[in-house]
Amino acid sequence: MTKLVYAFDEGQKSMKDLLGGKGANLAEMKRLGLPVPDGFTITTQACIEYLEHGSKLSEEVVAQLQTQLDLFSQRTSKSFSSDEQLLLVSVRSGAKISMPGMMDTILNLGLNDDNVKKLARKTNDERFAYDCYRRLLQMFGEVVYNVPMTAFDAYFDKYKTDHGYDNDADIPAEGLKEICEHYKSLYVEKVYKPFPQEPTVQLTEAIEAVFKSWDNDRARVYRQLNDIPYEIGTAVNIQEMVFGNSGERSGTGVAFTRNPVTGEAKLFGEYLLNAQGEDVVAGIRTPKDIASLEEQMPHVHQQFVSVSQQLEQHYRDMQDIEFTIENEQLYILQTRNGKRTANAAVNIAVDLVNEQVITKQEALTKVEVKSIEQLLHPNFDDEALTKATVISTVGLPASPGAASGKVVFSAEEAKEQHEQGEKVILMRPETSPEDIEGMVASEAIVTTHGGMTSHAAVVARGMGKCCVTGCADLEINTTEKVVTYPGGTLAEGDIISVDGAKGDIYVGKIATITAEHSEAFEQYMTWAQDIARLSVRMNAETVPDIIAGYQFGATGIGLVRTEHMFFAPERLIEMRRFILAHTQEQRITALNTIGGYQTEDFEQILRQSGEKPTIIRLLDPPLHEFLPRSESEKAQVAEQLGVTVTTLDKHIESLNEVNPMLGHRGCRLAITYPELYVMQAEAIMKSVIRLKEEGIDTNPEIMIPLVSTVEEFTTLKTLITERIEALAQETGQDLHYLIGTMIETPRACLIAAELATVSDFFSFGTNDLTQLTFGFSRDDSGKFINAYSNQGILEQDPFQTIDKSGVGELIKLASVQAKQVNPNIKIGVCGELGGDEKSIHYFNDLEIDYVSCSPYRVPGAILATAQSEVESGRLSVK
Ligand code: ADP
Ligand code: MG
Ligand code: MG
Repeated sequence: MTKLVYAFDEGQKSMKDLLGGKGANLAEMKRLGLPVPDGFTITTQACIEYLEHGSKLSEEVVAQLQTQLDLFSQRTSKSFSSDEQLLLVSVRSGAKISMPGMMDTILNLGLNDDNVKKLARKTNDERFAYDCYRRLLQMFGEVVYNVPMTAFDAYFDKYKTDHGYDNDADIPAEGLKEICEHYKSLYVEKVYKPFPQEPTVQLTEAIEAVFKSWDNDRARVYRQLNDIPYEIGTAVNIQEMVFGNSGERSGTGVAFTRNPVTGEAKLFGEYLLNAQGEDVVAGIRTPKDIASLEEQMPHVHQQFVSVSQQLEQHYRDMQDIEFTIENEQLYILQTRNGKRTANAAVNIAVDLVNEQVITKQEALTKVEVKSIEQLLHPNFDDEALTKATVISTVGLPASPGAASGKVVFSAEEAKEQHEQGEKVILMRPETSPEDIEGMVASEAIVTTHGGMTSHAAVVARGMGKCCVTGCADLEINTTEKVVTYPGGTLAEGDIISVDGAKGDIYVGKIATITAEHSEAFEQYMTWAQDIARLSVRMNAETVPDIIAGYQFGATGIGLVRTEHMFFAPERLIEMRRFILAHTQEQRITALNTIGGYQTEDFEQILRQSGEKPTIIRLLDPPLHEFLPRSESEKAQVAEQLGVTVTTLDKHIESLNEVNPMLGHRGCRLAITYPELYVMQAEAIMKSVIRLKEEGIDTNPEIMIPLVSTVEEFTTLKTLITERIEALAQETGQDLHYLIGTMIETPRACLIAAELATVSDFFSFGTNDLTQLTFGFSRDDSGKFINAYSNQGILEQDPFQTIDKSGVGELIKLASVQAKQVNPNIKIGVCGELGGDEKSIHYFNDLEIDYVSCSPYRVPGAILATAQSEVESGRLSVK
């Protein structure tokens, strides 16, 4: 018999797969002797079986559940039917990977019309008892019967307004009774059956609902966003209730052991007195800072501080802890590694190393590759800020970033506008899990309620999205679609700017500047580079990009695309002269002029690189990309070239290709027009000579694209070498350079051994290689790739993540063979995959020396190379 239900006492933190993160950690905390209410966990395996086999809990689960419930009753001396020792429980979902706020929870389960009276009598607090009951009725209705949240909320809010109560806590017992009665009638009205009075029926229905919630839309979206597989399922935790809503000596809260926004090593959290469960997170009342608990309940505060330190040491990471205080007794209800901003992640990792809690290697696994890119996000320009009109400065800096966009008031609107290409900022009184897709679609999120641990704040930080919460001076009217702020009003579609690092909001769009890096970031990246085997170069050709890439830690340039340099008007006309020429002489004249420009370009690029290796790819795209298209452009070009439009048209037509991607491009251009590559090689070496004269040494690597035969390569290499050698003779300079090939056709992979004997380096061009291996046009695959991934035909888009069994095998074969015949050959990967985390892990296990990606992906790539090396197990522990 498979064990499907575990008491907390039977679990531990290593059992996350089976018990989910919440369950495993509750068990672990109990083992540590912390004050955790007792309970048990139904496994993720039971969830998967339930979802596979239909609509009822299996007999086996029901039987094991009963056994555990009996044992649980014995341990706690409580039961669902006892008068004096009434058992009430929470039913909490919890997958292996935490999905904060995504799944469902039901509190106070076990209450019914009878038990609520018992509870009132026992506690001598009718108000409290009915507060628990109304919460159960609402949560159970939402989770189990899908009654819309608004049905309950609307009535509750109206009740408060009608009776003049500002806070939930102001509603007296009588009022709560009336609310409970109304809630019960909502069941009949909305789902045609009454609220189930039998606690064990409540329990099974609740468990089934939590299992089902694994399949709901918001869970699915969250999994998709975070790459969480469906198959892991969720566990369900049944736990004895403790009551934060039993008066002013009770409360509930959430705290992080360090600041999740900045990483500062200081307890960071919020709590509310006389409140239960989600009240803090839902942003209904603005909670208090954890520091003020020290005045209100010094003992509890002190105990909490020591528990939080113990947990952080034990888990060797910053913890996100949920707690409840019942009559000054502290209970810990959850701990997990806390979500944090990229900046905080780096600072915390570095601090934990300095505090000797973790090793450098462990530290390198603690920051997500995708979050590193957040750190490179721009900030608002201070100068521009001083001139901007302020909307609000009272909000909390919940998640950093600088975003501008149009105001929208609902998640649906955000999604819709985003799909139309608009940048939007979602403004809401508060957010809830239903809003997740709208939050994804927004540049930033602004709320008027809620604190630093509200739903909006936590989710935004997880997404690396700019967010400001608790803007109490704004009034958002979502029905009228207006915001009132101290100085005016905003309507839907108005543009605002949000500073998530400061919590400020401004009118209009504000200019941004690139971020500066902290010392901790530099330190962290150095550790990564020290450990990494693969080095990381950048794909770049403009001076600002190159400077950025080197600042981010690139070790060289893996790809300079020369075609971009031909598009300035004065160059384009020369290029057109070249393409449309009738004689070689005309071609050479045009090329000489272009050569002059190119020498300047290469000089700028190589000046930035100095001795760092710099791969320059010779011209690659089909020539017609340079030709005029519109009639007016054609007329102008015809005039410039001194021919008639008809002649020009004919010429253009003759260059037209049915399938340009497979046509006259790459090295094929130079097989037909050798002077093109000779000009470019000469320009490269002339710039090398100029720099040399200034005392700057450089290392250019000349790359020939789209090679598929050895003869193509040797023919062109000979031509280029001859020219360069002649140049060396003329100038009396000793010139250093490499000539290599871009490997981007399957044939080139297959003849790699032979190519490697004549080529100084290989660089896999994964975009073309993927295109040619699959036969998928990279420009048209958008039309079907989604269908492929939705139907599970392809696990991922091969243009974004390496297709290991096809393209990956080709790369492996080619690199192994190349290194065999030429151990000194340098092998790299450029193209989209060079910056992709999963692909980097694959490349790190091959005979490859470096990857190359766009400058802004460089830090992420460096981190991925380091993480891959840590995981490889090749390193000795340090
Ligand atoms: P989530 O995964 O969304 O955080 P939880 O299962 O942690 O959901 O529960 C939601 C809220 O209910 C939390 O604030 C939690 O502290 C509270 N809660 C859960 N179980 C209990 C319990 N046994 N007693 C009191 N509060 C509880
Ligand atoms: Mg929780
Ligand atoms: Mg290519």
